[in-house]
Amino acid sequence: TERLKAGLAKTRSKLGKQLAGLFGGGKIDEDLYEELETVLLTADMGVDATMHLLGDVRERVSLKGLKDASELKGALKDSLLELIGPLEVPLSVEGKQPFVIMMAGVNGAGKTTSIGKLAKYYQSQGKKVMLAAGDTFRAAAREQLIAWGERNNVTVIAQQGGDAAAVCFDAIQAAKARGIDVVLADTAGRLPTQLHLMEEIKKVKRVIQKAIPDGPHEVMLVLDANTGQNAVTQVKAFDDALGLTGLILSKLDGSAKGGVIAAIAKQRPVPLRFVGVGESIDDLRPFSARDYVDALFD
Ligand code: GDP
Repeated sequence: TERLKAGLAKTRSKLGKQLAGLFGGGKIDEDLYEELETVLLTADMGVDATMHLLGDVRERVSLKGLKDASELKGALKDSLLELIGPLEVPLSVEGKQPFVIMMAGVNGAGKTTSIGKLAKYYQSQGKKVMLAAGDTFRAAAREQLIAWGERNNVTVIAQQGGDAAAVCFDAIQAAKARGIDVVLADTAGRLPTQLHLMEEIKKVKRVIQKAIPDGPHEVMLVLDANTGQNAVTQVKAFDDALGLTGLILSKLDGSAKGGVIAAIAKQRPVPLRFVGVGESIDDLRPFSARDYVDALFD
């Protein structure tokens, strides 16, 4: 929680200060609800989640007969926890060998960094990890992954040129032969509006299915927390195209927009598996809704 708190420092200082002002004193009245609405929207929770939370808080207030503004905090924490709680679904990589995780996201979202962090995370649990350098558009991405693999003793399957689907196919075959537990398949960054690239990533998924019939076992979208409301658009578009099973929200440490988690929970609740709270290899945390809410308010 301490680390998550540190990671949320920006969202917290912004949202926290504004909320503290609201809960300061006085009576619960319409003016207070209006201020609360503004604060939630400013924290990038989006209109849908904000309206939902306001309605839910009002209900709690009337049910419990709360009168004092200071009592609003508990009601809001409960509402927020209920809203984002369903996003907390830990990812289990047990029961499949190899367990294949396919990564997707826009350029710069934090995909490659997150793959490194995940590799470390699973290695430290005693898993044998392999990387598939499926970002075949940028030579630098391949080199980055290979260099990272060498430093950390993780096998990287890569091809000069070639296509992403073929790299992933080869990696899964190699992983089967070598008794690998977890395959992390990188893909090139793309925008949901680049339709030919969205077709290309659908093909990567289809080819993975040819290599391992019940795979990919996880289709994971990496989102930059600074994207704010646009993150929801990305979730919807990638989910429609690929059928997402999980999310990573990166760069939560540098973002004042952590409220976007509420927007995702309301508008397209794909499990939030991990949050990135820094650039170093250990800065990845399984998402905890309770820790997140506590970090925001306390
Ligand atoms: P990709 O294009 O999606 O593969 O993005 P990268 O993994 O290359 O990351 C882009 C930049 O974001 C790099 O400078 C990373 O160090 C940085 N980054 C990634 N995740 C985090 C995070 O959780 N916190 C911070 N502060 N920076 C991050």
